[in-house]
Amino acid sequence: MFEYSGALHIHSIFSDGTGTIEQIASFANEMGLDFIMMTDHNTLEPKFKGYERWYNNTLVLVGYELNDLQNNNHYLVFGTDELAGEFEQISDEEKGNKLSAEEYVHEINKKGGTGIIAHPFEKRKHIIEHPSYPWTEWNSKEFNGMEIWNHMSQWAEGLTEKNKLQRFLHPLKSIIAPDEETLNKWDELNLERKVIGVGSIDAHAHKQNVLGFFEVEIFPYKILFKSIRTHILCNNQLKPGDFENFESHKSEVLNAIREGHSFIVNSYHGNGKGFRFFAEYDGNSYIMGDEITLDKTKNKNITFKVFVPKEAEIRLLHNGKIINKTKALDCFFDYNLPGNYRVECRINEFGWIFSNHIRVI
Ligand SMILES: [Zn+2]
Ligand SMILES: [Zn+2]
Repeated sequence: MFEYSGALHIHSIFSDGTGTIEQIASFANEMGLDFIMMTDHNTLEPKFKGYERWYNNTLVLVGYELNDLQNNNHYLVFGTDELAGEFEQISDEEKGNKLSAEEYVHEINKKGGTGIIAHPFEKRKHIIEHPSYPWTEWNSKEFNGMEIWNHMSQWAEGLTEKNKLQRFLHPLKSIIAPDEETLNKWDELNLERKVIGVGSIDAHAHKQNVLGFFEVEIFPYKILFKSIRTHILCNNQLKPGDFENFESHKSEVLNAIREGHSFIVNSYHGNGKGFRFFAEYDGNSYIMGDEITLDKTKNKNITFKVFVPKEAEIRLLHNGKIINKTKALDCFFDYNLPGNYRVECRINEFGWIFSNHIRVI
């Protein structure tokens, strides 16, 4: 299979980001990203204006980020050509969707789009100007996935008046690991149905005045491209610059995201390229996002295999519980219980790689 790394959830001047799509794409290309997924607030204008295409070695896809009238329930949408619902101004700068979150999730699903919950458990207690925008609509059963790690959200969560300057100057150092509440919810949802996980940066590159006298760009795009990436595994090779086959490249990427043929890497702790988590059962191989049906007439084990590009603590989890832990470059585990299996790799307690689940039924 072919592996590609990308950055998800990026804002440009089409909403509240500060970069043009050409600038952002050129940073992504420079940082070695194979694809980026743009998500401006409540607009698909960049797509209609032709910005969705190859820029050197980087494929730029354009989706959008929805929110409701309370400015909650942020939802990343890909693979549709029109916006869901209708919008109303909710403040000088912000719009909200007249549909409830449950309704827009349903509409996007009906149209064949892929929808991902953004920053589901966002909490920002310390600074009043930065409120949180959590997901509250858990009754919906039709979203495809959720962000299990959002750089901007985690960075802002620990922000206080005291550590503000430190955090502004070192945006990558404050990112530790996905929060437990999010991981627990993700594992819990997967007991019922497949819900894929992605990692994202939520980049805006806001310019802000710190301490009242000097202006810094918070999270320049280029810095964030070193942070949380989602790596995908594809059956077919992407060919940069092949404009004629753009639509098939695009569906290759969207399909891998939607199916969870992917894993999440905090690249600040090392390049995750080459990480693999797969299972072998009864002569077949299964990758992340796949489902294995156990044949109860045969008393056979499933062998799970993990390969890591550099030594790390590898944890294998079954339905959210750690069932094996080892420090190594690779490891094999045999199990035969139904449930959802995933892998976490940590380096000195910092989260590094988080796989999607392999389901066993
Ligand atoms: Zn958001
Ligand atoms: Zn956002």
